Amino acid sequence: MCGYVAESVEGGSVAHEDLLAQIDACLDHEAENIGEQSSPGSRTQSNDAEERAGQVKIYTSGSFLDEREIPPKTRAAIAARFADRDRIVVESLPDFVAEGKIADFTEQGIETDIAVGLETATDRIRHDCVNKYFDFAEFERAAADAEAAGAGVKAYLLLKPPFLSESEAIDDMQRSVRRCSGVDGCHTVSMNPTNVQKYTMVEELYYNDGYRPPWLWSVAEVLDSTADRDVIVVSDPVGHGSDRGPHNCGECDDRVQRAIKDFNLRQDPSVFEQVSCDCELTWETVVERERSFSMPLVQ
Ligand SMILES: [Zn+2]
Repeated sequence: MCGYVAESVEGGSVAHEDLLAQIDACLDHEAENIGEQSSPGSRTQSNDAEERAGQVKIYTSGSFLDEREIPPKTRAAIAARFADRDRIVVESLPDFVAEGKIADFTEQGIETDIAVGLETATDRIRHDCVNKYFDFAEFERAAADAEAAGAGVKAYLLLKPPFLSESEAIDDMQRSVRRCSGVDGCHTVSMNPTNVQKYTMVEELYYNDGYRPPWLWSVAEVLDSTADRDVIVVSDPVGHGSDRGPHNCGECDDRVQRAIKDFNLRQDPSVFEQVSCDCELTWETVVERERSFSMPLVQ
């Protein structure tokens, strides 16, 4: 389901200088947009600290803590660049999470979160439907290491990977949120509904009538039913309302998306009482009757 495989560096890595050039380009962009004069070396001594971003997220679309992607000296240099910010978020597969690496940030006094693409708490679904190799136990180990370093963990979960029916996807997500809420150090879950990206197996299934992205009603159902758990759950459906993204009937998509955004801010499930549409009956029927792809019609 992930299209980044088509956008990776061909058989190599990105040099220390080039990685820092990317960071500095972002810092220059920020400086320009808050009206500062940008000049090399001056940006960390800015007098306008309150106008700059307090929180920095570095999404490598890989593993920031994998030292083949980001060498230790690059990691240390990036930590120094952002030492005067409040909070930093970096993403990593759990295997690469280690207390010593995170300490580069926490020792600078930066609140640190590690975003982990857990996808699901169910090992079989992660292995066979998502094609990721690690086990839930490895995620628990990573969360413990992050906590020991004084950092937190955000779990990224994938709603409706291929080969699951709508109801199986909802069940899997509800179970996953519950299990994540029981992991020390995991304070937030970000639920990402699958969308159809180019050159992926999901796209192939989609063109063969073997895949439909999840209903926005399913997103709402999971948020509503897990709101009592001791973990923040957020969702920002990408491509909502389009055929290749999470969608309902076309009439109500924007309204349901707004309710989801509202829930992200308030964590109050009553926002979903204020949206309804005739297509809820279709969704309920799908949840009740849909079976797996390629089930024979008669034996
Ligand atoms: Zn509708």
